[in-house]
Amino acid sequence: MTSYVSAFARGSRDMAGLLGGKGAGLAEMTRLGLPVPPGMTVTTEACRVYLDSGTEPPEMAGELEEGLLALEKETGRTLGSNQDPLLVSVRSGSRFSMPGMMDTVLDIGLNNVSVLGLAAASGKERFAWDSYRRLLQMYGRTVMGVDGQHFEDALAHLKHDRSLKQDQQLDVADLQEIVGRYQAIILRESGEEFPQDPRAQLRCAVRAVFSSWNAERARLYRRREHISDALGTAVNIQAMVFGNLGADSGTGVAFTRDPATGSAGAYGEYLSDAQGEDVVAGIRDAVPLAELERLSPACYRQLLGHLQTLEGHYRDLCDVEFTIERGRLWLLQTRVGKRTAEASFRIAYALVDEKVISDRTALERVDGEELTRLMFPQFAADPARAPLARGLAASPGAAVGRAVFDSAAAVRSAGRGEACVLIRRETTPDDLPGMVAAEAVVTSRGGKTSHAAVVARGMGKVCVCGAENLTVDAAGRRATTGAGTVVAEGDLLSVDGTTGAVHLGALPLESSPVGSFLENGRSTGALTDAVARSLRHADSARRLKVYANADTPHDAALARRLGAEGIGLCRTEHMFLGTRRPLVEAMILAADEAARAKALDALLPLQRQDFVGILEAMDGLPVTIRLLDPPLHEFLPDRTALSLRLAATPSPAAHDVELLAAVERMHETNPMLGLRGVRLALTVPGLITMQVRAVAEAVAERLRAGGRPRAEIMVPLVGAVEELRLVRDRVEQVLAEVAAETGTRIDCPIGTMIELPRAALTADRIAEAADFFSFGTNDLTQTTWGCSRDDAEAAFFPLYFKNHIFETSPFTSLDTEGVGLLITMALEKGLASRPGLTTGVCGEHGGDARSIHFFHRAGLDYVSCSPYRVPAARLEAGRATLRPAEHSDSR
Ligand code: ADP
Ligand code: MG
Ligand code: MG
Repeated sequence: MTSYVSAFARGSRDMAGLLGGKGAGLAEMTRLGLPVPPGMTVTTEACRVYLDSGTEPPEMAGELEEGLLALEKETGRTLGSNQDPLLVSVRSGSRFSMPGMMDTVLDIGLNNVSVLGLAAASGKERFAWDSYRRLLQMYGRTVMGVDGQHFEDALAHLKHDRSLKQDQQLDVADLQEIVGRYQAIILRESGEEFPQDPRAQLRCAVRAVFSSWNAERARLYRRREHISDALGTAVNIQAMVFGNLGADSGTGVAFTRDPATGSAGAYGEYLSDAQGEDVVAGIRDAVPLAELERLSPACYRQLLGHLQTLEGHYRDLCDVEFTIERGRLWLLQTRVGKRTAEASFRIAYALVDEKVISDRTALERVDGEELTRLMFPQFAADPARAPLARGLAASPGAAVGRAVFDSAAAVRSAGRGEACVLIRRETTPDDLPGMVAAEAVVTSRGGKTSHAAVVARGMGKVCVCGAENLTVDAAGRRATTGAGTVVAEGDLLSVDGTTGAVHLGALPLESSPVGSFLENGRSTGALTDAVARSLRHADSARRLKVYANADTPHDAALARRLGAEGIGLCRTEHMFLGTRRPLVEAMILAADEAARAKALDALLPLQRQDFVGILEAMDGLPVTIRLLDPPLHEFLPDRTALSLRLAATPSPAAHDVELLAAVERMHETNPMLGLRGVRLALTVPGLITMQVRAVAEAVAERLRAGGRPRAEIMVPLVGAVEELRLVRDRVEQVLAEVAAETGTRIDCPIGTMIELPRAALTADRIAEAADFFSFGTNDLTQTTWGCSRDDAEAAFFPLYFKNHIFETSPFTSLDTEGVGLLITMALEKGLASRPGLTTGVCGEHGGDARSIHFFHRAGLDYVSCSPYRVPAARLEAGRATLRPAEHSDSR
């Protein structure tokens, strides 16, 4: 039996796929016997049918009617009746929580007649007309597509005519007037009357929720969070309860622990005499949850009890939406709550200590991205510095950027590559693109559970909200502080989401507690303890080793402190830049072998010193040194600039003329696919001779000094085993020469990068001449897709995201289907022809969680990533071992 409508009492938490997260949570709370207003859920299946075919499944209408009759029976009320009417909310709710992304309509069932019934039953005429006004506004906007501004304007007009400041001052007659005007607006703007038939209201509202799944902002959020567009949303239809019936009523949000820091103890906000959406929208300022103890001790105690029940049941931080109607507590929503990175680590290990979850579960609940975020530097403390404004520390971190005052400006700024801070009075879902684009979000209104705070925390964005000292003038593109200081668009700001301070100018940064701990090993509290425990666990569980990409002794030492077990990629190109560039230039311009040898001889000792330093920093651990990879013209001046300069000089220097000739000679239409990598080694053999000699001499020097150098030489861009054979012969010859000269034994494995499809396809042959494979997944992705990253990302990737050709850039997260296939194939072939072959990854994917999980499954020996990603990679390599079976690449 397929059923498209399910009463709350029939569902459970395991049915989130069908009922959505909100529906599953409501069902679970109902099952637990918690006070939930009754209702039912229209399934995601029904939504998918609707979105695919354009109409509801035929059975749905009947099931909905049946459910409604049951609801009427249970509540003893009738939808839209003229006496004590049943009203319902129609709430969206997908599998994964999308805060504020989808539309919810409250007070369905009110019309010109039932509003009188509500007034009579509640004994509050004003409340009834205010509810009707709200319905018309929400319904008009979300169901009938009327621009919400029309309603705002009408309300403002009336208040102006009556010389009123606040909505609360509107009396019954005013509200009746507004209701009339709103109905006229709906008719004028949509061409249709507001439906007086309550069942028609319900039907159309359900349909509107279905359709809101494809609203632009919902799509954007899903893309960012890697949520599949195919899931659809469920719709919850629930009997209304009213928090706006006076001082003994109210509404709030509560967490079982502090979602910002992870500290124990219930936490939240409460707004008396208000409807649920008022809190989330940050319209009025809520009071801390603790105040509820004074306002309504009985409800407060009950709420704490329910919070405990829920946390014990879900074994995790939960948040709830609750409403108190005339002294009676109702729960309207629960879910495992979003939290900051700090709270994530602290709560996971607090729950381990409380014996609620296992170590294994704790490791599942933290992740590398959070760990990396905790390592970000923070502003150096300076008690003497007075902030420009202070608000609530809603989402931690330090951000510096230029002030912008609307979403579009933030998007433009990010497009120019300029960091910005989005300043708003409060945010709405329409601000989402700007929030994504900005480094930080600052609002002047709203609490820690306002839209801005919830969304920023979810995205890991810095956020300060409720900075009341700021008056934000979005139209005038500026904000003014109480003291009269003006922040104009483009002014530099420093936003501290950890303390809630906003400063003018760019403040100096210092390392975070977690950053310091990871480098020096000294734990300083609950957070660093939790991080240490997670890493200890991951290190003992993981099979993948974690190396770093490092080109200098400084980076090598840093990587080692952060736990790197070797260097997977030491690039030698930067060693040819700066003051050494003239030497490289001389080598390139050399007229004959003697001149070239002279230039190379000058480079040799410099390069040797580089290697000595790196081998020393990584003593005892492998250091994979890549022979020069980029095309040589990268070391020469820019062609256009040089020819312009020469054209403007009457009698140019001979050197410059030669230089231009060389630049012209070496110019390539497509340097990425040109004379580089192993091709360069074969064309300019003196170059690699020098490089290998520098490595070998450095090894000898380190051995003499009593060290344990473990250099390895890596040949880039090989496509055929013959290329590698030729280079390998040359390398072995130089190693033997230096061994003989210095009288030392030099053990130096020689391997290759696999970064061309042909190398992967012929990996069995290539393995005959390689001691190790290192997958250069950046180039392998470029060459497999046949696109250059620099050109592609700006030119057509946005279009590709939009059309779901891929959900994430294949340069960020490995394309496991295509590039991944080449990797597994090359591994299999390589290991078949050389069983002891060492294999690793040195592309940027080595630091990406999803890619690391793939590399673990593929059976590589190590991943190599930038030094600051090493702790996250260790954590993810450990997490990859936890659930090989149910690992999901896409949600
Ligand atoms: P969102 O997903 O944006 O939080 P919700 O569906 O949870 O949207 O609803 C928006 C607000 O309306 C919430 O504060 C919620 O508690 C409140 N609300 C929803 N249904 C009811 C109801 N039946 N009675 C009272 N308040 C409700
Ligand atoms: Mg909600
Ligand atoms: Mg490469």
